[in-house]
Amino acid sequence: MRILVVVAHPDDETMLSGGTLALLAKAGAEVHYLCATRGEGGDLGEPPMCSRDEVGQVREQEMVCAVDTLGGSSLRFMDYMDPTVGEDNELFAFVADEEEVAAQVLEEIREMDIDVVITHGSNGEYGHAAHLKVHQCVKIAVMSFTEKERPLLYSFQGAFQGHPKERVMNQDDAAHVILDIASVEVEKLAAITCHKTQHGLFLRKAIPDEHGKRSLRYSLMPLESLHRIYPMVERLPVQDALANLLAGMEGVRILDKISTPEQS
Ligand SMILES: [Zn+2]
Repeated sequence: MRILVVVAHPDDETMLSGGTLALLAKAGAEVHYLCATRGEGGDLGEPPMCSRDEVGQVREQEMVCAVDTLGGSSLRFMDYMDPTVGEDNELFAFVADEEEVAAQVLEEIREMDIDVVITHGSNGEYGHAAHLKVHQCVKIAVMSFTEKERPLLYSFQGAFQGHPKERVMNQDDAAHVILDIASVEVEKLAAITCHKTQHGLFLRKAIPDEHGKRSLRYSLMPLESLHRIYPMVERLPVQDALANLLAGMEGVRILDKISTPEQS
C-alpha cells in the first residue's frame, strides 16, 4: 500500500499524526510525504538557532530527519513560502492559487500511484489557515480523479471522547479509527526531537504532567485518530484497505460507533 501524507509545515506530520504514520510504516506501507512550505515563518528556536533567512533550510532538514525516523519512504516540498506569524499570534496561509496547489497534489498522487491520502482535518485542527488551505486543496485533488482511480482520503486529529489535546481536535470530523501509539512512542519522540527549532513552541503547548512539569515527552499525544473523508462513511466500522491494514495492529481501534466528545 502506498500512502501520501500532505501537510502544510514541517512538524505537522509528527505532532499531529506521527504515531499513526510510524505504525503504518511498520505495517509495511510505503509512506510518502508532501509538504506545502518549509515553515519559513515559524520559530527560529529558543535561543534562535539560525536567521529568518535560513530557517526554511533548517526546517527542511528537520523534516528529513523526522520522516526518516517515522519510517517514511520519500519527502517532497511544494516550495510555497510560509508567511511569518502576525501580531497577536495570527496564523496565515501561504499565498497560492488553490487550483494550482491541487494540481501539484494530483500529479504526486498519479506519479506515485497512491492508494491512500492522509491530510489536515476540516477545521485545520486549531483553525490554522494554512492547514485549512491544504485540506481544501487535497480534497479538490482527490475528487478530480474518476471514481475508479480515486484514492481513499483520510484526515488526522478526528474528534472523539477522551482526546488528549482537544485544542487540536477537528470538531467537525468524527474519529473513525483511534490509535493508541504506545508501541511507536519511541519513534514519535525521536521525530519530535528532530524538529529542534520548534522545541520551545512544543514545550509551551505541551500538556503538563501530574507535577505541572512540561517536557517534550508530554507534548506527544498518546492517542491519535483518523477520520475518513472519502468515500463518505455511511456505516461503521469503516472497511477499506487502510482499515484492514490497521485492524490487526496493537492499540488500534476501528470504531463501530461515533465517540462524541463531551461539549465543554
Ligand atoms: Zn502546521
